Amino acid sequence: MNGNKPILTEDTIRAMEDMSFFIHAQIFDDLLIVAQKETNCFVLKTSDGLIVIDAIWPAEQAFQAIIQAIRSSGWDPGALKKLVLTHGHVDHTGCGKWLVQHYQVDTYLSKRDDIFWERHPAKPDRPETWKDYEITHYVQDGDTISLGNKTIYVYGTPGHTPGCLSYIFPVEENRKIHMAALWGGTTPPHDPKQVVRYLKSLDYFMSEAKRHKVDVALSNHTAMDNGIQRILYSKSRLNYQPNVYIIGQEGFQNYCQVFRTLSYEILEK
Ligand SMILES: [Zn+2]
Repeated sequence: MNGNKPILTEDTIRAMEDMSFFIHAQIFDDLLIVAQKETNCFVLKTSDGLIVIDAIWPAEQAFQAIIQAIRSSGWDPGALKKLVLTHGHVDHTGCGKWLVQHYQVDTYLSKRDDIFWERHPAKPDRPETWKDYEITHYVQDGDTISLGNKTIYVYGTPGHTPGCLSYIFPVEENRKIHMAALWGGTTPPHDPKQVVRYLKSLDYFMSEAKRHKVDVALSNHTAMDNGIQRILYSKSRLNYQPNVYIIGQEGFQNYCQVFRTLSYEILEK
């Protein structure tokens, strides 16, 4: 058995750039997950088009993988309307440039993180990873992003980055609505002061999740939730087998404890 927290190493960081492996699965009637080894994004289907949430890495292969996943689910990439980002790190802003170029999607991020993304590139010595597309809509805590029959609730959860956002939105399976939550900034920051902020954001997000009766946990890093195994399972899941993303309201609160564990580890150093 592994321990009570995910294992994050230098290899984890390196694997974020490995574009030789992609996998995807339709995990709800209206939600796709597309992953490479370490990071993943989501495609949410609405009655008026598709929303991509996060965009993996700035590589054309990542863009192609997202489009391919949409097609293989029988959805139409031509219906892409919005790209919603959790935060201004390169492993999430990802391949948005191509989504903008080819599908003219509107783009959403906090103003703080748009500035942060521009001024503090994650890889300062590598121009190919710098900010390379515009944000058309600034969003902040309390906002909603709507398209067709879907509304995404926006939460300001600073800590991982200054303007990090987290999201809650409905997903559907067999005509039953579930509420899904995506905690935007997976790992706690290294600066203990920011960890305190991160924990405050986590408390806030967990209470909002309770209020919205969140019963589905989504992660944008596969190391957090055994993401690759879950996707593999979901790909071949039979109708009578459970959806592993539905973990119940209490399950979601328990799942969030891992972020606390990782934070305490930094504070105790
Ligand atoms: Zn990040």
